[in-house]
Amino acid sequence: MKLALVGIGKIALDQHVPALAASDVWELAATVSRNQQVEGVEAFTRIEEMLAARPDIGVVSLCLPPAPRFAVAEAVLRAGRHLMLEKPPGATLAEVHALEALARAQGVTLYATWHSRMAHAVAAARRHLSGRDILGGHITWREDVRKWHPGQDWIFEPGGMGVFDPGINALSILTEILPMPLRLLSAELDFPANRQTPIAARLTFSHGITADFDFRQAGPQTWDMEFQTDKGGLALRTGGNLLEIDGTPAGGEDTIMDEYPALYARMADLVRNGASDVDLAPMVLVADAFTLGRREAVAAFEF
Ligand code: NAP
Repeated sequence: MKLALVGIGKIALDQHVPALAASDVWELAATVSRNQQVEGVEAFTRIEEMLAARPDIGVVSLCLPPAPRFAVAEAVLRAGRHLMLEKPPGATLAEVHALEALARAQGVTLYATWHSRMAHAVAAARRHLSGRDILGGHITWREDVRKWHPGQDWIFEPGGMGVFDPGINALSILTEILPMPLRLLSAELDFPANRQTPIAARLTFSHGITADFDFRQAGPQTWDMEFQTDKGGLALRTGGNLLEIDGTPAGGEDTIMDEYPALYARMADLVRNGASDVDLAPMVLVADAFTLGRREAVAAFEF
């Protein structure tokens, strides 16, 4: 299947291009990006030009930041092409609802991806927690924004979500593995004096679950979740890739490099089956954190 990749930046080059190159299903047939290209691949700078010039390309994958994404996504669906979205799927919930309705009307696939749900131990954690009562849990998601988002000022602009850009990955795992729905009860959000989105957040959910997200983590990076259940404990480490049951390693593999191949395999299945996959549960929790969050001012942040 021929695919065009839009927004050639960090995640496109780190993950999408290698995943497509390794696939025997997908062909990266074009890119759309104002400043960057992929060697050997036809390059466009505007989505409308690509859609007009390449009617043979049936699938488009968007790696843009969330804020500029809607207009591009809408153009792709109006042109009758299947569409895959990086997480988070949009800047607002209403945008994604509109895209979902448009995809349905056009009879094309829309896949709102959550790459962390493809981490090695997530499916096993979901199976293990099924039928158990969750008594409590804690998420620690602490990473260095300078390492993972070097110079990306958009992340601190409205729509960029700040620390929820990585934090939503934790929430995508949480909403996948829990045997029941959960609600956000309260949030504390730390806004740098010179920025529009939070650099850290502390969240309290129903079922005794709490979360600590921080973008200022120098040194070792932490992407862990721990749960207590009526039948023992479960932990997911390294972003959902390693599983522990009752404190003992219980499988998984410490690499994120299989997540994007799994996303593209799923997209191929959705297109073949004429289906869509749009789950907004992680984004609802983020929206609720912005709605309920108590704002704290913290030191200004510069990259
Ligand atoms: P990025 O490198 O800053 O942005 C991707 C590209 O989007 C840019 O290089 C830029 O290319 C294009 N773009 C178009 N309009 C833009 C605008 N208004 N502002 C900034 N860039 C614009 O970001 P990224 O890290 O790849 O993240 C993109 C998406 O992937 C985000 O939704 C993020 O959550 C997700 N993601 C990122 C990571 C990560 O580790 N960084 C991991 C997983 C998922 P041109 O200038 O060439 O048009």
